[in-house]
Amino acid sequence: MAEKLDIKSYNLIELQEELVRLGEKAFRAKQIYKWLHVDKVSEFEEMTNISKDLRNKLSKNYEIRTVKAVKVLTSKIDGTKKYLFALNDGIVIESVLMRYHHGNSVCISTQAGCRMGCRFCASTLNGLERNLTASELLSQIYEIEKDIDERVSNIVLMGSGEPLDNFDNVMKFIELITDKNGKNLSQRNITLSTCGLVPKIREMADMGLQITLALSLHASDDETRRELLPIANKYSIREVLDACQYYFEKTGRRLTFEYSLVAGVNDTKEEAEKLSRLVAGMNCHINLIPVNPIEEREYTQSDKAAILAFQKTIEKNKINVTIRREMGRDINGACGQLRKSFMDEQ
Ligand code: SAH
Repeated sequence: MAEKLDIKSYNLIELQEELVRLGEKAFRAKQIYKWLHVDKVSEFEEMTNISKDLRNKLSKNYEIRTVKAVKVLTSKIDGTKKYLFALNDGIVIESVLMRYHHGNSVCISTQAGCRMGCRFCASTLNGLERNLTASELLSQIYEIEKDIDERVSNIVLMGSGEPLDNFDNVMKFIELITDKNGKNLSQRNITLSTCGLVPKIREMADMGLQITLALSLHASDDETRRELLPIANKYSIREVLDACQYYFEKTGRRLTFEYSLVAGVNDTKEEAEKLSRLVAGMNCHINLIPVNPIEEREYTQSDKAAILAFQKTIEKNKINVTIRREMGRDINGACGQLRKSFMDEQ
């Protein structure tokens, strides 16, 4: 039997074309689209204003890709929730819900595993399993909204995976999640974090999006950056910052630079001065992340005093800087660790 098509990854126009191809009226597409993206159903049977005949036809040709929670951890401190979701083929991924006073923010995974090899990251330890489809990216948000019965107002593409290494599906996801016929989220409420795939940053800039670009910088010289991020062997800091500047010029969106502080590697006052000089004059914000140690690597967190001194130095240079607030300390673990421990158990 031919593989079923992924109906939730189509935009409305494509869905109309599909229905016409099946010999159906195009207007049905809008009804089905609403069932998928507003009512967030996971079975064709739930589409009650669609005839049984058409529902049967749909389920013969298409599948509704969803994610199913297999484990949920809730923080007693701040309500942060970590979801371990199973995909249709049994692969598991992680998503995190963070509750802020300004709304609910969800961090989603863009790939199962990752092939970027960043040294301190748990998501990449077993390499890339596969890309997530647009429907699987959407489903992480939809299932969390169903679970909490509240709206998710911010999305960060900062979970496992490199979003720009899954470019087409991620761009389709952005199109669908911001569609006025669907969830209708503003692009400005989406942040995409990348380790720095230069050609893809430029391609995204040319698409004229309004999402926030976050770059995982983590070092202010190429030698240190190469130690932490293998991708730095391919693109120099100069090249990646030029691409970010190009993104800013095309979109007017302030840039975010993420900088994970690793004790004895990139956390001295001199490093803070170097970092300040590097980004001076750019419209940016620096987000300091105390590294979250993983047992497979020897990296440790900088002590509190070093983190504060690092921040002070950057502030003194009149650059916006914040230390990432730790959410869900009691259920914490580095990104990808929950997934990895689950897989090791199996
Ligand atoms: N692939 C994307 C998104 C992944 S993770 C990227 O590289 O940006 C989001 C951020 O968390 C990145 O800046 C990443 O470098 C950082 N990160 C990953 N593991 C970490 C850890 N154990 N401690 C601190 N930061 C980490």
